[in-house]
Amino acid sequence: MDSPESLGIDTVLQHYAEEGQPFGAVVPPIYQSSLFSFEDIDDFAAALSESPPGPPFFYSRIGNPTVDIVERKIAKLEGAEACKLIGTGMGAITMAIFSVVKSGSHCVVVDTCYKPVRQLFETMLARLGVTATFVDGRCPETVFEAVRPETDLIYLESPSSILFRLQDIEAITAFARQRGIVTVIDNTYSTPLYQSPLAMGVDILVHSATKYLAGHSDVTAGAICTSAERVAGMLKEEVNFLGSAIGPFPAWLVLRGLRTLSLRLPRHESTANSVVGWLQDHPKVKGVNHTSLADFEQRELFLKQMKGSAGLFSFELKDGSEAAVRSFVRALRLFKLGVSWGGFESLVVPVLMHPLDWPEPRWVIRLYCGLESPDDLIRDLARGLEAVSNASA
Ligand SMILES: *Cc1c(COP(=O)(O)O)cnc(C)c1O
Repeated sequence: MDSPESLGIDTVLQHYAEEGQPFGAVVPPIYQSSLFSFEDIDDFAAALSESPPGPPFFYSRIGNPTVDIVERKIAKLEGAEACKLIGTGMGAITMAIFSVVKSGSHCVVVDTCYKPVRQLFETMLARLGVTATFVDGRCPETVFEAVRPETDLIYLESPSSILFRLQDIEAITAFARQRGIVTVIDNTYSTPLYQSPLAMGVDILVHSATKYLAGHSDVTAGAICTSAERVAGMLKEEVNFLGSAIGPFPAWLVLRGLRTLSLRLPRHESTANSVVGWLQDHPKVKGVNHTSLADFEQRELFLKQMKGSAGLFSFELKDGSEAAVRSFVRALRLFKLGVSWGGFESLVVPVLMHPLDWPEPRWVIRLYCGLESPDDLIRDLARGLEAVSNASA
């Protein structure tokens, strides 16, 4: 095989970090073992004196051979020195944040970030003496102006949840680096295929691997990608103390999902673009929030820092009442009503949003286009919008 450094992304997805499996197995085995034993007390004592204990494996809360393959592959995809796979995306995000903050820290956070992350700052972190300022983020100055002498962390999610607003990653990381502020970004929406934040200066990148990376709605997982030094620190403290380890089998499912990532994403994207094109022209639709639109308000930034958009977007009905939203959702059959996304199945979820720049909360409908036939999805949405007219007639 060519040197691992020169491999194309599709080859990385199929083979990287998987050489040398026992018996020539083409699929790595699932090492369903919680611990790794030692022949000799001297070897055991030597392993225990390492930090983290190991090498290479000691106890599966810290590391496991099946998990390790997935970690090395995701690190390679993100251009990171190291990756740690965790049981959930929220576990990964919490560990990343805890590895940076201390009592008295101040954080600047994008206000439309994934809701449980916002709640983490507002509840647990606030109780521990960590304060946060929530900012719009679309204009980098909103981030810069919120920074204080005690700011230790800037938390980005670009595009952000539900409204899909972008932050100028390079402008913000350049500012943060000058001041010794650590930047964290959630790259779940884009995956390593469509956005490379570490190359743009971000310090710590997190994923909900539950979504596109695993891609089949059958597992929860999270990933942290950053420097080897930061991962080593997390293995000693956050990973060791907070737990939230991923099991070998869920990790193996992520590995299996990754094989088709570069096939799935463009398909989600072309379907979503057809659906969005149809929705935009519909008389009952007020506005569509999708990064790939030619008239997306941050089009230039999209072209600068992203390579694609895939299957997730949101829109508003002209009739913004809760009753209209309910009628629409109730009439759908293919789009299943549920949280999450990134799998094979199309999903809908209505969310009452109240970002900083809106005087009142408004209902936003998030759609996720799965791998079904685009015409069937459009027919389903037509049925939903038909029900809106019937309800308000
Ligand atoms: C789902 C999601 C998370 C949380 O991930 P879990 O795997 O559900 O814990 C974080 N960020 C974004 C953008 C998500 O969509």
